[in-house]
Amino acid sequence: KAYDLVSELIDRIRKSKLNAYITVTEDYALKLAENFDNGKKEGKLAGIPIAIKDNISTEGVRTTCASRMLENYTPPFDAHVVERLKKEGAIIIGKTNMDEFGMGTTTENSYFGVVRNPHDTKRVAGGSSGGSAAAIAGNETVLALGTDTGGSIRCPASFTGVYGLKPTYGLVSRYGLIAYANSLEQIGPMAGSIDDLGLLLEVIAGRDDRDSTNAGREFTYSPVSKKFRVGVIEEMQANAEVKEHFDSFVETLRKFADVEFVSLPSLKYALPAYYIIAMSEASSNLARYDGVRYGFSLENLDSWSRYFSKVRAEGFGTEVKRRIMMGSYALSAGYYGKYYLKALKVRTLVIEDFRRAFEKFDVLISPTMPSTAFRIGEIADPVTMYMADVNTTPINLAGLPALSMPIGESSGLPVGLQVIGNYFEENSVLGFAKAVE
Ligand code: GLN
Repeated sequence: KAYDLVSELIDRIRKSKLNAYITVTEDYALKLAENFDNGKKEGKLAGIPIAIKDNISTEGVRTTCASRMLENYTPPFDAHVVERLKKEGAIIIGKTNMDEFGMGTTTENSYFGVVRNPHDTKRVAGGSSGGSAAAIAGNETVLALGTDTGGSIRCPASFTGVYGLKPTYGLVSRYGLIAYANSLEQIGPMAGSIDDLGLLLEVIAGRDDRDSTNAGREFTYSPVSKKFRVGVIEEMQANAEVKEHFDSFVETLRKFADVEFVSLPSLKYALPAYYIIAMSEASSNLARYDGVRYGFSLENLDSWSRYFSKVRAEGFGTEVKRRIMMGSYALSAGYYGKYYLKALKVRTLVIEDFRRAFEKFDVLISPTMPSTAFRIGEIADPVTMYMADVNTTPINLAGLPALSMPIGESSGLPVGLQVIGNYFEENSVLGFAKAVE
């Protein structure tokens, strides 16, 4: 019975040490489960529990982006993806923890505290969708939504041993997603199996005129089955233990696919270009948090500029403030050409390199992350943290679809494989994943 399943999940969440959820929608979820048991069973996801990352708007349910700035913000409307989930009968059980506004790789930048990895609770679950990944890996939900600006679905999927897919840019509407870097990000599915991933993508993808970058295409899950031409990207990075797993995966793959190495020279410059673009967009998107329109506010409006600075100084965490400052600098009149414009040129080179590679290959592969999950507090230096995104960020610059799937464990910690497809070729990516599972 759905009621028993949902009560069991909620019970587990209440007792959990993972800190995967910021808000649990207990009464709402139990009511929907009861309706399901009483015969309300229409929809592709009828009766299935799902957790939603807390930067996706849910009507009447607080949506914090794991920031003090939005601690008490309750959206008056649903995101497009949430409308779709409700229409298909899914049971929303809560909102998941994340790095503040999606800025991070470990969920250590959450105002609500770090998320722990179910494989080893002294380690991080990855980020920024760490709560969604930990909730799946820790059996605290069945499905989850994450968002991926530079790896935030794939990194936590890799660190916790679950499946996560970043769709082609424009396939899933961003209406109702609270923006971090809008030219890079997509909402995407996270799950415990490839079929669940495909089905959830089918539900959330599709036309929506409220997002001007929406491609207006629907997606039907129908995984491709064929002899795949696979390119192994030379520039992608891994430490010794991840490399060992990845190399032995590639060797096995040679038995049933055409495998070749491929070089994408521009990837050397992709990580810095990503961070310049992401921070520039963030500095502009986060200008709206002025302590007046919504979210965090203070008494004592003595002068407008003092009020504005004080609200932002107290409402944002350290990493968010760092990025607003760096982004404003990169966009300022004197430095725009030197940083932002250069980064856009690199972005074009990255797009071109991938375009050439897909003339020859059906899918490209790499390790998702250069390492397994870090210990909590292990990475203190921001630049070292940014470097962990070296394999995931180029995909967002190009707007391509990519998933992460587990391919084994090293010292008890999951190792993830990244599978990248050409534009709107999600069914090739999912089909390849099924073939190698
Ligand atoms: N770690 C990357 C960043 O901090 C990616 C984050 C994301 O995809 N939201 O920008």
